[in-house]
Amino acid sequence: MRDTTAVPTDRQLWPALRRGFSRKCPNCGSGPILKSYLKLRETCPVCREDLSHARADDGPAYLTILIVGHLMAPLLHIAFVQFRPEPLVLFTIFGIGTITLSLYLLPRLKGAIVAFQWARLMHGFSDSR
Ligand SMILES: [Zn+2]
Repeated sequence: MRDTTAVPTDRQLWPALRRGFSRKCPNCGSGPILKSYLKLRETCPVCREDLSHARADDGPAYLTILIVGHLMAPLLHIAFVQFRPEPLVLFTIFGIGTITLSLYLLPRLKGAIVAFQWARLMHGFSDSR
């Protein structure tokens, strides 16, 4: 059966998502799409793909909280029930772990969201062809 929700495009979704997650251009896979921690470049420095149409907004932060929360909450429960560490030890380990994982995921999820919008021709990405 044919998938009627698919957008007719030559842009493959999963390779683009992998490139975006590694903070590379979804089109060529080699140009960095972020010029600082979270600032998106207007164009890819390698293939000149126009990236100015991306509208990531709060998506990366939402996904980061969703993933980190669903990982850390059960781990916190398991650590507390199984090991009963000192409260300050528990707070220190989970505080550092949560902040580190969030800072790791945030720019990568931003790249993945920009790549998703690029692959699905969302916003102005369909006009830039
Ligand atoms: Zn590129």
